Amino acid sequence: MAYSNDARKFYQDELNGIKEAGVFKEERYIQSPQAADISVEYPEGAPTKEVINMCSNNYLGLSSHPEVIKASHEGLDSRGFGMSSVRFICGTQDIHRSLEEKLTKFLETEDTILFASCMDANAGVFEAIFDDRDVLIADRLVHASIVDGMRLCKALNESFKHLNMDHLEKKLQTYQDARFRCIVTDGVFSMDGDTAKLDEMVALAEKYDAMVFVDDSHSTGFLGKHGKGTHELKGVLGKIDIITTTLGKALGGASGGCVSGRKELVEMCRQRARPYLFSNAMPPVVVAASNKVMDIIMSTTERRDKLENNTKFWRKGLTEAGFDLREGDTPIVPIMLYNAKLSQDMSRDLYDEGIYAIGFFFPVVAKGQARIRTQISAAHDIEHLEKALAAFTKVGRKYDILGKGKNEIIEMYGL
Ligand SMILES: *Cc1c(COP(=O)(O)O)cnc(C)c1O
Repeated sequence: MAYSNDARKFYQDELNGIKEAGVFKEERYIQSPQAADISVEYPEGAPTKEVINMCSNNYLGLSSHPEVIKASHEGLDSRGFGMSSVRFICGTQDIHRSLEEKLTKFLETEDTILFASCMDANAGVFEAIFDDRDVLIADRLVHASIVDGMRLCKALNESFKHLNMDHLEKKLQTYQDARFRCIVTDGVFSMDGDTAKLDEMVALAEKYDAMVFVDDSHSTGFLGKHGKGTHELKGVLGKIDIITTTLGKALGGASGGCVSGRKELVEMCRQRARPYLFSNAMPPVVVAASNKVMDIIMSTTERRDKLENNTKFWRKGLTEAGFDLREGDTPIVPIMLYNAKLSQDMSRDLYDEGIYAIGFFFPVVAKGQARIRTQISAAHDIEHLEKALAAFTKVGRKYDILGKGKNEIIEMYGL
């Protein structure tokens, strides 16, 4: 037997260790479409319960939008279920190319290439463009998929302190002899909801002859006046050389990702990016629905406007109730609790009150930085948010954390 008893015991012990540390992740079974109101079976075997979802990436409420569902049915009927091919063999339909063109127009870039996910886009893009003559200088809190993509590339992997432009400038000075330099960042950082200083980064890139790479997965579709993303919010449209983003969050939330930017760099990905060359094309039903999503967000800003208003209402309400929030102006609103167990206990009590909000702790966030990360959606109506506020306030009062800051909460609950 190749899977020996020793091997089995080793993994059982590992898993028990995770459980004993109180950081074992359980999944809750949703029995309805993704929406503001969802039916959930939790714990396993319990009767289904209706709860308000406060933690999805369904920022624009398009995941179950009737027009998007209709477009996916039409895509299924007209283009079939699967491609059974990678793009360059026989996996490219007209609708794949039109989705790429719509993304290019929306993001105001030169060209776009689709991937099966943004994880794949990030895994492929660096290796396709850079080699051992180059230096990648990344914010220290970039998404795990960027870290992995950089590792797969032979360029020197460097970093700068989170959002620290002085530190970035020093690193750019250090590597003036490299062939190419590339500044690498998330547009919006998913755990804190803070934004990259793209305007300052572009200025530094011009001064020190560097490219700029932004992963805008948590902002494409809603940040900036027309929802184009962090580059619109910071006034640097057309100045970002490489944007990666996902179709798996605001843009319908099914799956898919892309690299969008300078046309030569996009073409290099089509020729060389391994996840593009060696993994299946996006399914027609997802592509057809995503085309509809692009039509919707390019024809009106109604949904991103509603999201912005909802976010203001939510932040104001939580602040007035006395919660300790991470500052920011994105729909990611983290309620800081610092202690991992407290984040789990509060999440469970919120569920009893009809609110679905997950607690995050190490290793998803740094040790001693546990929190409940709430995410606002255009699918929420003010009534949802009012109900959620009442529940959060009730639970916050139970744990006596309202009006308390970091030090007081840590004093009460430890780290
Ligand atoms: C969610 C996310 C990804 C992964 O996107 P998928 O399309 O789900 O693979 C990549 N980067 C960032 C910054 C993300 O937030």
